[in-house]
Amino acid sequence: LISVSARPIDTAGGRRGAVAVFHDITDRKRVETELRAFAGMVAHDLKAPLTLVSAYAELVAEALDDLAGGSGAPTLDQARRGTAKVLHGAGRMQRLINELLDYTAARDATLRVERLSLRALVDEVVTARTDAPGHEPEARPDIFVGPLPDVHADPVLLRQVIDNLVGNAIKYTPPGQAPRIDITAREDEDGGVRVRIADRGIGIPDGEHAAVFDSFHRASNGMAHPGTGLGLAICRRIVERHGGHIDAAPNPGGGTIFSFTLSGAIAHDAEPVPQTPDT
Ligand code: ADP
Repeated sequence: LISVSARPIDTAGGRRGAVAVFHDITDRKRVETELRAFAGMVAHDLKAPLTLVSAYAELVAEALDDLAGGSGAPTLDQARRGTAKVLHGAGRMQRLINELLDYTAARDATLRVERLSLRALVDEVVTARTDAPGHEPEARPDIFVGPLPDVHADPVLLRQVIDNLVGNAIKYTPPGQAPRIDITAREDEDGGVRVRIADRGIGIPDGEHAAVFDSFHRASNGMAHPGTGLGLAICRRIVERHGGHIDAAPNPGGGTIFSFTLSGAIAHDAEPVPQTPDT
């Protein structure tokens, strides 16, 4: 996008002319559009849980008043259910605010690149995700991790990318089914590393794979799962700040393959990485 401003000038000798100034405003427009979407989403997504929290907090207060007056068991039950709703609403707001903070940090935080073991980082994320409470025993994620090299990256930000992708792979697997995830890496054509996280989940409808990286965008088949549409936008920002790129593609076996590059990040004295062609 170009904006043009022009003003007339009088040159010495009485000749008249004009100066035109061209500004590329593509970035400014993009930021404005993002900010508008951001404000709309915050207003909408924070308002719903906040209304819920206020309504149920009031109900709990009333129930406690009644209890103080001695009216008994049904009111205690109401207070208990009300408190659970308040906690649920507060949890939703907390998650949203954390994602908004991550989103800003992904763009603004100073990049602290160091040599790190991708294997150790992935293992940490996988252990935390597999041991997280709330999985039915038969739905514990089944995660295969291939040989992974050392890379040069910001450990905090890279961990966030991997955690978001693994978290999504678990979240977008139908309930009652154990998430099946393969995490592998291979050397890229330009000497960097390509990391792949493949799942067998609900997949992304054809034609929507690129758009899921836009902030607040959610695929048409994923609405039943709670989310903000910010996680992948955060991943893209982080990967691009490392000089790499990220994309999503259908998994031929069903599900989705996310892959991202860490440009020039492989440490050649590290654990060998298979150089199989990308399938
Ligand atoms: P959120 O999960 O909070 O909605 P994300 O930015 O992480 O936000 O993802 C954007 C959208 O991409 C999701 O709403 C979902 O529709 C889709 N998506 C992301 N990961 C997967 C996955 N592993 N399988 C299927 N769909 C996915």
